[in-house]
Amino acid sequence: MPESKTYHGQCHCGAVQYDVVTDLGSMGDCNCSRCRRLGWVLQSAPASQFTLTSGADNLTTYRFNTENIEHQFCKTCGVESFARGRDGKGTETVMVNVNCLEPPVAVDRSTIKHWDGANW
Ligand SMILES: [Zn+2]
Repeated sequence: MPESKTYHGQCHCGAVQYDVVTDLGSMGDCNCSRCRRLGWVLQSAPASQFTLTSGADNLTTYRFNTENIEHQFCKTCGVESFARGRDGKGTETVMVNVNCLEPPVAVDRSTIKHWDGANW
């Protein structure tokens, strides 16, 4: 089991910055209409483990389909570095875009989980 630690994430221009405590133990991608366009790699974490340290006023929210997930992207550079939602128990959850972590994290796409979001 990988160890939990604090990772730093940010959008491309750096306006949006955050810290998240996670073990990156359940990284995944998704084939829904939005995720397949983005090609992002997700890691969910309880919202209590996530701290937005910069850029709250530089975020725009996009919702689609069931509108349960708040896709948050930077008004300046357009990068979605995280999204907010709730897990099956109603706990506030953050989905971090692993590709936005700095320093970069190696992602082996052959071992990550593949969510069938297209057929939910
Ligand atoms: Zn930005």
